[in-house]
Amino acid sequence: MDRQQVDNAGGGNAAPGTVPGPPRLYIDACQCIGCAVCADVCSYQAMRMEVLQPLPEWDESACVRCGECQEQCPTAAIILSLDCA
Ligand code: SF4
Ligand code: SF4
Repeated sequence: MDRQQVDNAGGGNAAPGTVPGPPRLYIDACQCIGCAVCADVCSYQAMRMEVLQPLPEWDESACVRCGECQEQCPTAAIILSLDCA
């Protein structure tokens, strides 16, 4: 599966010399149809999508991992990991 990890400002980037933790939210770029449903259903403004933006943008710091975006995505393009180790 061709997956794209969605990073916010520094959210998915490990510091040099450190081992990155597990990804916390993926959007499968091959499955996403750009419908913006995920942004519409997020009550925390943690998923945003502007006009002409190909993929939604995830704000890790605002996300409470409620899973609503994953549930409502019509193409099952969102994979949310609850393993925050
Ligand atoms: S709801 Fe799913 S298909 Fe629609 S923009 Fe979000 S990730 Fe893409
Ligand atoms: S898991 Fe919940 S809070 Fe996080 S982006 Fe999805 S809908 Fe928003």
